[in-house]
Amino acid sequence: MITVRGRRAGSTGIRCAIVAVLDCREAAPTGIMAGMAAAALSSSPVRPGTGWPGDPATPRTPVAGDPIDVRTLAASARVIGVLDARVSVCRACPRLVAWREEVARTKRKAFADEPYWGRPAPGWGAERPRVLIVGLAPAAHGANRTGRVFTGDRSGDWLFAALHRVGLAATATSAYAGDGQHLPVTRVVAAVRCAPPANAPTPVERATCAPWLERELDLVLPTLDVVVVLGGFGWAAALTSLAAAGCSVPSPRPRFGHGARTEVVTPDRRVIAVLGCYHPSQQNTFTGRLTESMTDDVLGQAAVLAGGHPPQGTAGAARG
Ligand code: SF4
Repeated sequence: MITVRGRRAGSTGIRCAIVAVLDCREAAPTGIMAGMAAAALSSSPVRPGTGWPGDPATPRTPVAGDPIDVRTLAASARVIGVLDARVSVCRACPRLVAWREEVARTKRKAFADEPYWGRPAPGWGAERPRVLIVGLAPAAHGANRTGRVFTGDRSGDWLFAALHRVGLAATATSAYAGDGQHLPVTRVVAAVRCAPPANAPTPVERATCAPWLERELDLVLPTLDVVVVLGGFGWAAALTSLAAAGCSVPSPRPRFGHGARTEVVTPDRRVIAVLGCYHPSQQNTFTGRLTESMTDDVLGQAAVLAGGHPPQGTAGAARG
């Protein structure tokens, strides 16, 4: 059930009415956050609209409490800022809500003095992206701590360094929300928006969260040139969501692999490339299964497909 200002809407009709009224004023206005930062720092999980840098929500943002709410609120989000706000307060998966908030309260020792976001991590980066990067889910002490997807953990360190090398990120690091990192043409999203125990969302949780990704793809599709998918689960989720957004997807579905490449056709007949890349988990990067040059190869292809210049020294540039 959708909750707004502590009241719960009990029917789909009421849901839709509330959504329509609030759609234009529920997302946080830009510029409001900086002066309110101190308030946010005292709370883990962070309450919506209390000053966390980049928090897209306000106390008025409607809260999805079950899978029907997720579908309703995702489908009726008309702009990416509203979608981000609604994602960031979602409570539709009881197990994941309990886990993300427990982690935010107990914290890792190294971050014991820091506040934790403890909410879903919405997509982040360009609102009209040419490159979309799709991962699996936030890390418990990464995005679940910083509030920004792929930020504050080793996987993010690897990813943003590579994005910077190929010209898709302003700086080589992504340490915390509000750190000055900037993605001019790239958006980064997770297929499941809450940190799951053992990095393993259940099939039901994956299905419950899917409408957020489907709507996000819908909204960014007009400007998109390429989707880079990190890992096999993201690959399946991205192709399914692209199909749900009206794209023609090859059948049978192409298999995931590092360097896998396929194409989908949008409803307005544009071709979007979909590239596979091993996930930059420590399991892959520490073992050498994924190297920097392998990562640069795929992201370099994405940069070229998005109209960038070939990044020097990456194999992807040569194949652009
Ligand atoms: Fe909501 Fe997705 Fe988090 Fe489930 S995983 S609570 S659907 S944001």
